[in-house]
Amino acid sequence: MKKIQMVDLTTQHSHIKEKVLKGIEELIDSSAFIKGKAVQEFEKELAEFLGVKHVISCGNGTDALQIALMALNLPENTEVLVPSFNYVATAEVIALLGLKPVFVEAKEDIFNIDIEDAKTKITANTKVIMPVHLFGQCADIDSVLDFAKENDLYVIEDTAQAIGSVYRKKGTAGTFGDIGTTSFFPSKNLGCMGDGGAMFTNNDELASKLRMIANHGQKQKYHFDCVGVNSRLDTLQATILRAKLPLLKEYSQKRLEGALYYNELLKNNDKLTTPLISENSTHVFHQYTLKLAEGINRDEIQAKLREREVPSMVYYPIPLHLQRAYEYLGYKEGDLPTSEKLAKQVLSLPIHPEITKEQIEFIVKNLEEVLG
Ligand SMILES: *Cc1c(COP(=O)(O)O)cnc(C)c1O
Repeated sequence: MKKIQMVDLTTQHSHIKEKVLKGIEELIDSSAFIKGKAVQEFEKELAEFLGVKHVISCGNGTDALQIALMALNLPENTEVLVPSFNYVATAEVIALLGLKPVFVEAKEDIFNIDIEDAKTKITANTKVIMPVHLFGQCADIDSVLDFAKENDLYVIEDTAQAIGSVYRKKGTAGTFGDIGTTSFFPSKNLGCMGDGGAMFTNNDELASKLRMIANHGQKQKYHFDCVGVNSRLDTLQATILRAKLPLLKEYSQKRLEGALYYNELLKNNDKLTTPLISENSTHVFHQYTLKLAEGINRDEIQAKLREREVPSMVYYPIPLHLQRAYEYLGYKEGDLPTSEKLAKQVLSLPIHPEITKEQIEFIVKNLEEVLG
């Protein structure tokens, strides 16, 4: 059996190496490294895959979130609702732009934003909500959209972990709100070989604004209409993504099969709760995240697994409202109890399209032994 890794990019790329090398060779011959043809072609192909009118590529998933917020021209005192049980990128860009992150609870079963809690946090200054489709399945978009409409909020969906996930057969993650964003970081479900990101929208005006901001605030060369940034997807990365996009459905299917196999093997274990696949959304399992029962020493479990060459990770150990960087916002322990509880109990096991049944069986056997 091959050594188990959280992600196995080497195996993934060994299958597409020829195709990628051919693309890179063509690129070297043309040497159009910035804004080459592959960039527009990839944007078109991704738009078609997602079922959205516009895709605007950029340098990484965090830039995508920042540019999305910049495109909304928000007043200085704007408050932005964002989940606390989350990766840092959304909160970070809100703060960087001088706006105020307001942290919202997660739903304990699907780890995604809890609109009932968001309702208690709205003020006259709330202008945006940023649901994050965590671990690979959609937040409850219908309730997000209803809430946003009632309160006149923009919706920016962070789809970095859930690209291709489908909500209630209505459409794919990232295409429901005003703007969706994603990341092509190598370990994401659709990863390139470096950094990359994209924004999606069905709104023509926003699309043109996003493109302008990502390009230094210019539509016409050397005519700067707004303060922008420099954020581009390299032609090289677009070339690689064009080779991988046709495989994304298959990658997602294999991730799901792996997760279902874990769920089946672990279903009777009362020391943990396996991840729930909500009836509202398909799940593309960017992470396979279970919850350990209360009172189990997670550090100890991880250490014992490590000794047995079973990798595991904690996404995420500290909710954002308790991180030192956001101390200035005045949150304290107990303010978001569900997010705090999740942060204490979650444990992510290896999941990727290349994982084998044998590897999953090995992981489960060892996990059950160390749990005792
Ligand atoms: C990876 C990730 C990002 C950021 O993507 P980068 O390309 O690394 O900037 C943002 N949000 C979430 C939820 C992510 O998982």
